[in-house]
Amino acid sequence: MYPASFEYFAPATLEEALGILSDRGGEAKVLAGGQSLIPLMKLRFASPSAVVDVNRVPGLDQLAETGSGLRIGALARHKTCERSELLRGRYRLLGDAAAQIADPIVRNRGTVCGSLAHADPQGDWGAIMLAARAEVVARSSAGTRTIPIDDLFRGPFTRSLEPNELITEVTVPDPGARASGTYLKLERKVGDYATAAVAVQVSLDNGKIGRAGIALTGVGPNNIRATDAEDVLQGAEATDEVIAEAARRAAAAAQPQTDIRGTAEYKRNVVRVFTERGLRTALEAARGA
Ligand SMILES: Cc1cc2nc3c(=O)[nH]c(=O)nc-3n(C[C@H](O)[C@H](O)[C@H](O)COP(=O)(O)OP(=O)(O)OC[C@H]3O[C@@H](n4cnc5c(N)ncnc54)[C@H](O)[C@@H]3O)c2cc1C
Repeated sequence: MYPASFEYFAPATLEEALGILSDRGGEAKVLAGGQSLIPLMKLRFASPSAVVDVNRVPGLDQLAETGSGLRIGALARHKTCERSELLRGRYRLLGDAAAQIADPIVRNRGTVCGSLAHADPQGDWGAIMLAARAEVVARSSAGTRTIPIDDLFRGPFTRSLEPNELITEVTVPDPGARASGTYLKLERKVGDYATAAVAVQVSLDNGKIGRAGIALTGVGPNNIRATDAEDVLQGAEATDEVIAEAARRAAAAAQPQTDIRGTAEYKRNVVRVFTERGLRTALEAARGA
């Protein structure tokens, strides 16, 4: 099906883009990679009266290290993250995950910030950014605000952005030198959305687990932070018992539904196994860092 008719804007500056969003209220949609918006428009699940294509706005495609972590701009593609040497070592969670998103064609166009703005419960970047304790920078003509990732997702495909706001970047704090992470994703076939997936990030502090981030994909109305699992890890020795308890708590935090991808019980068990496996991988990598 063809999309309903819409006005197309291709602003050359961020200010111009923000001005159009502001003038159009909730009627305009930002177009980044188009990998979610265009299919929705073709199916007529979305019929914006205006589309603001930000692909010509300079300076939004950054993936860079700053003094305090990483900046990932609104036009940084999944592919850029998959190939970046920055997303290894202590930022390995992001690099591991990027390679597992969709297929190469989608990864060439789709963006990290677009995925976060889309707030798909099956989206991988939501869990990754929860585990990494990221923040989203949102701009409108009225100014700039920073949204902690925990406050971004409000429900399936619902986020705490105003219609006139554009995510200009997501920032990932530096987890420290002795840190690492990984992303484990079960998919029915290569390129599919997750049946269930787990993002794990750990930092070591004097041989103990300093900070831990654990978040889940595909097993709830949004990406879920497994807070109880993080709590049991914080400040603990990385023993088999602690890892098993964290995995049990992560499984308890999941809210899976039975569907064509598997039963709720099966998905919950995948979360438990992946959390345990992910923690062992991340801890080993952090020790070697
Ligand atoms: C076949 C297929 C398989 C896929 N598999 C996966 C998968 O396994 N895992 C996964 O995570 N994703 C998957 N996706 C989704 C893909 O990752 C998209 O790239 C992503 O969901 C949206 O990013 P985008 O840049 O394409 O956003 P767009 O499609 O351009 O936009 C999506 C939504 O976000 C809004 N938006 C975009 N950018 C911004 C911004 N900077 N500020 C404010 N609002 C913004 C748009 O207005 C729109 O509402 C798949 C998509 C396809 C087509």
